[in-house]
This record gives sequence, structure tokens and C-alpha cells, in this order.
Amino acid sequence: MSAHDEELPRVFERYVRCQFERTKSRFCSNCSGPTTPQVSESGMWDHVTVKFSCERCGQTLHSDVATSLLDYPDTIAFARTHGVDVRETAIWELPLVTNDETTVTAEPFRVRVTYPLDGDELTFVVDEEFTIVDVSGESDRYDT
Ligand SMILES: [Zn+2]
Repeated sequence: MSAHDEELPRVFERYVRCQFERTKSRFCSNCSGPTTPQVSESGMWDHVTVKFSCERCGQTLHSDVATSLLDYPDTIAFARTHGVDVRETAIWELPLVTNDETTVTAEPFRVRVTYPLDGDELTFVVDEEFTIVDVSGESDRYDT
């Protein structure tokens, strides 16, 4: 495999991440219309998924909750204290994602995602609308 071939997944990953960040900012990557996130358990995937639906053109984008929370300030700060740059590391190389633990509770619907890293943990709790209702763990120690 040449060096050029090795670059391809990285480029693709950057493209996907760019598309995804745009959608997660509540703008459709296709038509820039408003998008609505919906969190649910998927029978097809192991992960709990977030589906972003465009209210204008109907385009949908799926991701798993753990990946969707990667670029939140708390996650970035948590990773940085352990020497991991979330934005400069390919998603599949991040220890945060490969070791993620996601649990779901009902009534009210809550998804808890824990990122373990070097013995520390950062935990997010989100509701069915992908609103973060709680962040706990090592983020308490940060000087902000
Ligand atoms: Zn759209």
C-alpha cells in the first residue's frame, strides 16, 4: 500500500466529520435547512443512534451517541488532559470511541455515555432530543 492509499480513509473521515458537524449544528448538509435530532436504540447497530432529520429536504444523517459527543468542549478538554487531540485524531483511532460505554434507561428516556481514558471517566447523559442533561466525571476538575 502506498502512502497515497493510506491517506484516503483520513480524507474520507474529514469529509464525513465536516458533513456531520454541519448537521449537528442544526443545519442540513444538503440544503442548509434546520435539522432535528432524535435519539433512539437501533436494532441494527450495537450503538444508540442519533438521527438528524432535515425539516426542509428530508435528508437524514445517522451517528452513534458516543461519536456525536466527541467534539463537545467537555470531551475535548477531557481528552486533552490525557494527551489526546480529538480534532486531530481519526475517529476510529480514538481510545474514547473504541472503549465507549453506552447505557439506556426509559421513563424518562436517557442515554448515558461514558468515555474511559487512562483510568479516568467522563460521562454524558442526553435525552431523546439529544439535549445534554448532565455531564459528570473528570470535567469537574477542569480549570475553566
Ligand atoms: Zn435539507
